[in-house]
Amino acid sequence: MAFPIKLEIGYIIDLRYIPFIIVALYGGYKRVLALYVILNMYRFFIGGEGVYLSLFFSTIIFVLVPLLSHWFNRLGSRNRIICASLISLSTMLFYFSALSFYFQELNREFWTLAFYGLTTHLLLMAIIMLLIEQIIANMKAREKYLNSERLNLVSELSASVSHEIRNPLTVTNGFLQLLNQSETITQEEKKYIEYSLQELKRAEKIVSDFLAFAKPQSENMLYSNLEAEMEYTKNVIIPYANMHDVEVEYNFKNSLYKRYDKNQLQQCLINLYKNGIEAMKENGGTLYIDVYEANKSIIIKIRDTGVGMDNEEISRLGRPYYSTKTEGTGLGMLMVYSTVHKLKGTIEVESEKRKGTTFSITLPVSKSGQISLNHSSRR
Ligand code: ADP
Ligand code: MG
Repeated sequence: MAFPIKLEIGYIIDLRYIPFIIVALYGGYKRVLALYVILNMYRFFIGGEGVYLSLFFSTIIFVLVPLLSHWFNRLGSRNRIICASLISLSTMLFYFSALSFYFQELNREFWTLAFYGLTTHLLLMAIIMLLIEQIIANMKAREKYLNSERLNLVSELSASVSHEIRNPLTVTNGFLQLLNQSETITQEEKKYIEYSLQELKRAEKIVSDFLAFAKPQSENMLYSNLEAEMEYTKNVIIPYANMHDVEVEYNFKNSLYKRYDKNQLQQCLINLYKNGIEAMKENGGTLYIDVYEANKSIIIKIRDTGVGMDNEEISRLGRPYYSTKTEGTGLGMLMVYSTVHKLKGTIEVESEKRKGTTFSITLPVSKSGQISLNHSSRR
């Protein structure tokens, strides 16, 4: 705005609407308001003719463009670029149509100006949008990379630690059993040994649970459509739900096949159900479990009507030991993310405070998954 093209008739052409439209589209009314005020204050400061037209014009853009913001932010990256460029182009079309009334005759100067104004706005907007979208894509990729680094680390660490601990546990177990058969020890001492063996068993169980974070085990691998696991985990969780006044609504409609570790998948689902139910502990509610297929993927949606989370809390999900519960471990979501990661799937979280939370898990199916589906349906 400080170095515009000045027209003889007193009007000014510059690129002010490019950042304006970008902020309006990405940020909506709240973010663009400050820009609207600054733009018009500065325009008044510059003075000259066209001040009121500019005020009128920017007000129209200020009112109309942020209306699209919600819809715009849901578009894919490429559509956003196209959409913003078109809006910038139509804004200028509108501007020049308005301006044409102020020219006595539409002479060469007007048409040249209109041509340069339109092409500059279109091209510049496209270039800036490309850069912005590239930055957004980089940020997302970085996030994903850090996330998968973390999960790999946890998985490797827990696998090695669990294995290392298992061996001494087995050895101790063996010696205690030998000792238990000795005839020189008293009844009292035998009891101590029994207790020790019991506790050892418990320790072993904890260690194997931790191994769930690690690599899938071949004897648990299945090739199936998740139905058995979904049914099983739903039935397991129902008593827990009833205890907290929570109803469970379950829907299954999937014929796609996938290879997965049965135990890990069950554990992952139960962790999600438990979190949902625990979020509804105060007032009860309904836990919705939906499984269906879309775009060659299996979609698992788990929705609760519980306390919900804000964006800050959502971003903390899956960090080790992050828990807001007094008796929480903060390992549940870590296990969930790790399992879905190993299945090459993605998790989306939508949540609103006091409204509830939806976890959407998308598990892509390999080509053979679809082929075997065709075979099985033909049979
Ligand atoms: P824990 O359940 O032991 O606290 P998790 O890893 O399972 O650990 O969950 C971590 C935290 O994420 C929880 O303490 C809770 O604050 C939040 N959380 C997870 N799922 C939900 C949900 N469905 N609704 C609200 N908050 C949730
Ligand atoms: Mg939990």
